[in-house]
Amino acid sequence: MNDVAKELYLLGCNILKNESLKLHTTFKIGGKVPLFVIPKTKNIFVKTLNYLIEKRINFKIIGEGANLIINDNDLNFIVVSTEYLTNITLGNEYIFAESGVPISRLSYFAMENGLSGLEFAAGIPGSLGGALFMNAGAYNGQISDVIEEVEAYDLKEKKIILLNKKEIGFDYRKSIFQKRRYISLRAKLKLFKDKKENIEKKMKELSLKRWEKQPLEYPSAGSIFKRPKPDFYVGTTIEKLGLKGFSIGDAEISNKHAGFIINKGNATFSDVMNIIEHVKKTVKEKYGEDLEVEPEIW
Ligand SMILES: Cc1cc2nc3c(=O)[nH]c(=O)nc-3n(C[C@H](O)[C@H](O)[C@H](O)COP(=O)(O)OP(=O)(O)OC[C@H]3O[C@@H](n4cnc5c(N)ncnc54)[C@H](O)[C@@H]3O)c2cc1C
Repeated sequence: MNDVAKELYLLGCNILKNESLKLHTTFKIGGKVPLFVIPKTKNIFVKTLNYLIEKRINFKIIGEGANLIINDNDLNFIVVSTEYLTNITLGNEYIFAESGVPISRLSYFAMENGLSGLEFAAGIPGSLGGALFMNAGAYNGQISDVIEEVEAYDLKEKKIILLNKKEIGFDYRKSIFQKRRYISLRAKLKLFKDKKENIEKKMKELSLKRWEKQPLEYPSAGSIFKRPKPDFYVGTTIEKLGLKGFSIGDAEISNKHAGFIINKGNATFSDVMNIIEHVKKTVKEKYGEDLEVEPEIW
């Protein structure tokens, strides 16, 4: 691993050795990886991916770690972060943004430039790349509404490709990035002009709802389950089952929002997974629905 670290450093990456992923996820759970690699530009990011593919080194991409539940054992893969891919440029009704830009920052950037369409994202933690991966959304908006085109790296063909909206195959919390070995690099977003005050007002309203309903004072990975069908609200169901406050170790179903599991301090991976299993089993028994976990599990 020392040679790999040296070569990636010489390519232009920041290198963190034996890095705990606890420090890079909003859930504050996760074991150590041998290398945590932060390429300094988009070109260096692509060169890094190419290098890792050629050397057949196992790796994963991380944005802001807001949608991850990570095993707390030592992990045998390298993590490549999009943290420095933060360029944003403004066109007339377009924004071009690299995949490491925080989606919430993009929402405020759009507002400051009188562009509407990203208000829903004001309070969503995570990067644009993570939002594309999951088709992140809230309050009747989702990232697919504003995406026109994405530049991505095809790990299989080892080349940069352009994907139009149709090719990205967006659906509820789904996109091609979950199925194919594509890594998003940069996206073109199509917004529309509106008065800054209108946009700001809407963002404030949505942020207030989030503030009041979500347990933002604790580490979490956001909603733990996808909705199995459009009219099946998992949080409300868990609440009806009397599971609010149900806890194992330091992991607890939030009393504020039953769709969230919070980490009250030293929750472990297995505490969280055991709660998930308990909820899945109870919901299946009482409602016959199979719940699917929303965050990625590493
Ligand atoms: C308090 C809280 C509230 C939340 N509220 C919402 C909400 O309202 N709506 C919602 O949709 N989500 C919500 N989430 C979940 C999370 O914010 C989103 O899923 C977000 O899009 C994750 O982005 P990320 O950069 O953190 O992704 P990460 O957690 O870093 O990664 C998630 C997955 O995306 C992949 N990925 C990341 N970047 C790339 C890339 N460039 N190319 C290919 N794959 C990539 C990773 O490999 C991983 O598989 C919430 C989370 C928290 C903690």
